[in-house]
Amino acid sequence: MGIEIKNFSYKYPLEDKNVLENLNLKIETGEFWAIVGKNGSGKTTFCNALRRFVPDFYKGEVTGKIVIDGKNLKDFNPKELVTKVGFVFQNPFTQISGVKDTVFEEIAYGLENLAVEKEKIIKRVNETLKLLEIEHLKDKNPQEMSGGQKQRVALASIIVMDPEILVIDEPTSQLDPKGTQDIFKIINIMAKKGKTIILVEHKLELIAEYAEKIVVLDEGKIILSGDKKEILNNRLLEEKGIGMPQYSKLAYELIKVGKAKFEEIPITKGKTV
Ligand code: ADP
Repeated sequence: MGIEIKNFSYKYPLEDKNVLENLNLKIETGEFWAIVGKNGSGKTTFCNALRRFVPDFYKGEVTGKIVIDGKNLKDFNPKELVTKVGFVFQNPFTQISGVKDTVFEEIAYGLENLAVEKEKIIKRVNETLKLLEIEHLKDKNPQEMSGGQKQRVALASIIVMDPEILVIDEPTSQLDPKGTQDIFKIINIMAKKGKTIILVEHKLELIAEYAEKIVVLDEGKIILSGDKKEILNNRLLEEKGIGMPQYSKLAYELIKVGKAKFEEIPITKGKTV
C-alpha cells in the first residue's frame, strides 16, 4: 500500500513540452519523502498531480497514472480524497478561508463541509489545537495573526481532517527560523503518528534532520531517489547546484560530535537555491 506513480507525464494546457516526464516512484505508507530540485524543476506540479481536483490542472495532458492504496487517483471522489490526502501550500494566506472569525471555526470548517456531527467536530478541533500546541490561538481572528501562526492554523485545518497522506509544498518559505522550527515540529509529530509525508523543501538542513527519503527532480525528471543519506552524499546534488550550503554541512558535523544542537543551527532564511 502507499502511492505508486507509474510512467506519469504531465503537460500544461497550451504548452508544448512535458513539465513532468515519465515519473516512476513508489512511496510506502508512513514514509517521509522530501522533494528537492531547482526552481522550475516541477516540484509544485508534482504536488498538484496528487491533488486531482485542483481547478484546471487535469485539463492538461496526462499520461501514466497515480495509484493510491491500490486505487487509481482519478477514481477517487472529492469526499474520499479529502480524508486520504491533505495539502498544505507555500502561502498560508491562500489556505485560510477568510470567511471565519476565529481559529476554532477555521479549523472546524473542513469537518463542517463533510457534515460531521457537531460534538465530534468540537472534540476533534480541540484535540488538534492541543496536538499542535496552539490552544492559545483558539479565539483569535485568523486574519490578525503572524505568518507563522497562520501557517500553523493552515496545517491544523488539514490535520483535523486526519488524512493518511500529507503533501506539503514549501511550508516555511515565508517564515523566520522560529516559525520554521514550529512547523517542522508539527510535521515531525505527524510523521511519528505514521502519516505518509511528501514535502517540498529547499532547505536541505531540514530535510537532513527530518525526512527519510528524497526524490530529486531536474527539468521534470526524477534524477535521484532513495534513502536520505545516500542522496545527500550524492555528488549530483552539488553538480546541479542544489547541494547543502557549506555552513549547514559544518553545523551537522558539529551536531554529530555533540558540539552543537539542531535548534542552534541558523536555518537558511528564504530559498537557498
Ligand atoms: P517548481 O515547483 O519546482 O519551482 P513548478 O512545478 O512550479 O516547479 O513549474 C515547473 C514548470 O512548469 C516551470 O517551467 C513553470 O514555468 C511551468 N508551469 C508552472 N505552472 C504552469 C502553468 N499553470 N501553466 C504553464 N506552465 C506552468
